[in-house]
Amino acid sequence: MITRMSTLFLRTLREDPADAEVPSHRLLVRAGYVRRVAPGIYSWLPLGLRVLRNIERAVREEMEAIGAQEIHLPALLPKEPYEATGRWTEYGPNMFRLKDRKKADYLLGPTHEELFAQTVKGEYNSYRDFPVILYQIQTKYRDEERPRAGILRGREFVMKDSYSFDLDDEQLMTSYRLHREAYTRLFDRLGLRYTIVAATSGAMGGSASEEFLAECPTGEDTFVRSSESDYAANVEAVTTPPAPERSVEGLPPAEVHHTPDTPTIETLVEFLNGAGWERTFTAADTLKNVLVKTRRPGDTEWELLGVGVPGDREVDMKRLEAALEPAEVALVDDEDFEARPFLVKGYVGPKALQHNGVRYLVDPRVARGTAWVTGADKTDHHVVDLVCGRDFVPDGTIEAAEVREGDPSPDGRGVLQSARGIEIGHIFQLGRKYTDAISLDALGQDGKPKRVTMGSYGVGVSRLVAAIAEQHHDEQGLVWPRAVAPADVHVVVAGKDETAAGEAERLCAELDTAGVRVILDDRNASPGVKFADAELVGVPTILVVGKGLSRGVVEVKDRAGGERVEVSTDGVVEHLVELVRG
Ligand code: ATP
Ligand code: MG
Repeated sequence: MITRMSTLFLRTLREDPADAEVPSHRLLVRAGYVRRVAPGIYSWLPLGLRVLRNIERAVREEMEAIGAQEIHLPALLPKEPYEATGRWTEYGPNMFRLKDRKKADYLLGPTHEELFAQTVKGEYNSYRDFPVILYQIQTKYRDEERPRAGILRGREFVMKDSYSFDLDDEQLMTSYRLHREAYTRLFDRLGLRYTIVAATSGAMGGSASEEFLAECPTGEDTFVRSSESDYAANVEAVTTPPAPERSVEGLPPAEVHHTPDTPTIETLVEFLNGAGWERTFTAADTLKNVLVKTRRPGDTEWELLGVGVPGDREVDMKRLEAALEPAEVALVDDEDFEARPFLVKGYVGPKALQHNGVRYLVDPRVARGTAWVTGADKTDHHVVDLVCGRDFVPDGTIEAAEVREGDPSPDGRGVLQSARGIEIGHIFQLGRKYTDAISLDALGQDGKPKRVTMGSYGVGVSRLVAAIAEQHHDEQGLVWPRAVAPADVHVVVAGKDETAAGEAERLCAELDTAGVRVILDDRNASPGVKFADAELVGVPTILVVGKGLSRGVVEVKDRAGGERVEVSTDGVVEHLVELVRG
């Protein structure tokens, strides 16, 4: 295929778009790959669409290779299946909801678990039918609170979503593993550097969910990995090794002390160390009680919750939210304090919470037998040596404290280091949540119905265009890996003489015959403009046809490394075919 710049629907921009914060957004707009229509909503122009299609092709090949079958469901969906699983309300404001002319409720699918389960139920009913893996590549809609960075976080975006349907947990493990392997092959093939991170605490058994994160300093997801093992996890999924339990026998009794003007951990520690005791205190010896309120989906009332963490750590709201999901979380305000006089701001202790029926969850470091300095529920007073398991018994533990670099790795090997990434894929053993909701059963060999178990697996197809661009660009522009590039060779005709143009045409025709995809810059523009556009567009190989012709040579430039070699006009087609075939 020969694409001529003289007629290609493309206008590159010299200036960065004003709203672009990250390189991929800046460059994809400047190079004319995408155009913004509304916040988080973009059009694909010819070059962008080619990259998108190349990624889709790779996704299809890897999915077919694990035996997945492609189908296509609507994006416009009726409310009922989503009501059956509770997601019509649970999904919250991220779901686009609409009404048809008869006032019936519809939604634009943010993800399709419900409809896939229903589709399988419509066709299959015997154990002989399973396992099955179905997938689609489709436009998804999410009314993201902060659409960001161009196509990286869109409100309309393309996702590959697949769903496995299995008869038992073992089969589900196999479907999960197949997807994990397919994703690994896919992302390797697309030239991405990525890490597979544990996405849930593993409370559901093993690696029930993992995310593939493209490593990138501009990524929105912070994750941690061990300095010594291959442990990697989302910050939300990091589990804190619990402190060893100790006997409460013989520990000093709790004592309330007058600690004037100590409403913060800092002022408290300073006071304690200046009090003339033989002990020294650090923030880690104090127990900070943070109050929040939570509300379960469908409930109207908020419930107060006390969260106890060691005073040297902040509560990480994202971890807290993940730990309490699907319940919502909000901070308490002055009104909440006023309505509950037992809460003494700055001096809240476990006692008042527990005596007044407030649920109280603590960090795993607050284990039985550990002693703390904490609020005494009285202004200007703290209690020292309040022992967990003796003086207070929490209602449970919660992973809400911030994770820090240098914390021990949960697998016991090494310490945690943090990094940033872009979520490009997510694999998830769902279990029976959706099949229970619609009673998706397979008739077993014994004639009894068996509940089917499900997995769901997503790839951010349009996001991948941006993620690849984030990892493959330089000051001049995009630098596509060959597997996704919009063309193989970008031919620049340098100089105005007819021989150069004629020779370029001849070479392009030969390359085209050999199956090489070329962009030919046949515009009536200066070589400087053409070179700048070639660098910006980012095709892996640039062929310059111009000055050298009198000596019988053309120049082949590697876009990524910048190396240039002169090749004879007779041998250049063969040279390029070899380059392209790798
Ligand atoms: P995120 O945490 O980034 O919001 P998610 O966990 O909500 O993503 P999933 O529901 O797991 O996303 O969707 C599967 C994949 O779809 C994600 O791994 C991601 O690559 C992609 N994706 C999700 N939301 C968007 C979006 N708003 N724009 C582009 N791609 C997205
Ligand atoms: Mg996800």
